[in-house]
Amino acid sequence: MRYVSTRGDAPALDFRGATLAGLASDGGLYLPETWPTLSAQEIAGLAGLSYVDTAVAVMAPFVAGSLTRDELKALCEAAYGRFSHAAIVPLVQVDHDQWLMELFHGPTLAFKDVALQLLGQLFQKFLTGTDTRLTIIGATSGDTGSAAIDAVAGRDGIDIFMLHPEGRVSDVQRRQMTTVIAPNVHNIAIRGDFDTAQGLVKAMFNNPAFSSRFTLSAVNSINWARLMAQVVYYFYAAVRLGGPERAVAFSVPTGNFGDVFAGYVAAKMGLPIAKLVVATNVNDILARALSTGDYSSREVIATPTPSMDIQVSSNFERLLFDLGGRDGRALAAQMKDFERSRAMRLTNAQSQGASGLFFSERVDVDEMALAMRWASEHSGEVIDPHTAIGLAAARRQAVDGVPMVTLATAHPAKFRDAVERATGLRPSLPGRIGDLFDRAERFDTVDATFDAVSEYVAARDPCVRSAWT
Ligand SMILES: *Cc1c(COP(=O)(O)O)cnc(C)c1O
Repeated sequence: MRYVSTRGDAPALDFRGATLAGLASDGGLYLPETWPTLSAQEIAGLAGLSYVDTAVAVMAPFVAGSLTRDELKALCEAAYGRFSHAAIVPLVQVDHDQWLMELFHGPTLAFKDVALQLLGQLFQKFLTGTDTRLTIIGATSGDTGSAAIDAVAGRDGIDIFMLHPEGRVSDVQRRQMTTVIAPNVHNIAIRGDFDTAQGLVKAMFNNPAFSSRFTLSAVNSINWARLMAQVVYYFYAAVRLGGPERAVAFSVPTGNFGDVFAGYVAAKMGLPIAKLVVATNVNDILARALSTGDYSSREVIATPTPSMDIQVSSNFERLLFDLGGRDGRALAAQMKDFERSRAMRLTNAQSQGASGLFFSERVDVDEMALAMRWASEHSGEVIDPHTAIGLAAARRQAVDGVPMVTLATAHPAKFRDAVERATGLRPSLPGRIGDLFDRAERFDTVDATFDAVSEYVAARDPCVRSAWT
């Protein structure tokens, strides 16, 4: 399988190359050249498979040429062996036709582990036997950071620099990153919001004088391999709820548009999906873009769902590219325009292409709290604020007779203050992080400027150090 950039001006790469690169050299994002498809019969054949075997069947076409099926299976077994639930992503019923898919049973208690545990394995596999040293630079609104750090801490040949917006992630989220004391882990609190931190990461990637000193890679959901890993659970859930004969709907708490884009990929591969509900908090750029075609960025408002406090959704570019006829040059112009003015209009093709499958809902803080109380009172499920945004949207978008699956993206203990405020119940930390508040933290606070951050990285990265000495 070959991967092309959404901006049409970077060389096509194989799966290994696209995974190690993350962002394309023209500033675009990699996508498979064509969508592989599974027939209805092949999808039906997934019904009895374990999560790992489902993962191999769904991902094999995407890694073809870079990994054998057996290699892929071994990596999946290692990645998902660290999950604390035997089903990996169990389904829980909360109403007649409403389900939660619990994606938070990995080491850091959020759905990001599903993709990043695999990405850590892929990096290791692709670097072993080479003398490449990888420098991972990422920005996190909370959950990516801890999941990425857990996935690579202590691994040979990899350094990770993780930027988080100072004071805008929960205590549990921050401590899950800053208490990992490994020589290859560098935590940076940025004096700014998430979009600023993400902008700094992009600027480092796009600055040749800086980036040529490293082999840079990205662990944000701009990395294709992450999205690929997330496609799997749409298949896993659908075949358990009557697919492919019955179309299933999904409600996805959305920030960077990665998770819900994986649902779009599943649909492209042939999975019958009734609708994909794009659930946003009051930072509703995606809801506005999908309902009116107006993709314009506003000030980020801090909410109890920090992982969705985003006004520039990187992966939306992938959707616009695919729906807009895969014209890299036109998309590059559209995106450059957006980067300049922070606003753009979707083309008719983009709006119409999205309209059959995507349905957007904006959920405010009161309704989020109501959904948390509803889940606890009606089904005894304690859910986190992000999941609550998804569930509120799912209940608005319910269609009689169509199973609706809300992606439960974080463990409630990760956001226990907000959970307690809404429900009166305080979830306890699961055993694997029970001593989190007793561990020592290590991080530095850095100004939100390109110079400050790039100098910080350069001073600490072994690649640069060894080049200097
Ligand atoms: C990252 C995250 C989201 C948003 O996912 P995207 O792929 O960025 O849309 C939602 N909920 C939680 C808990 C997250 O960590």
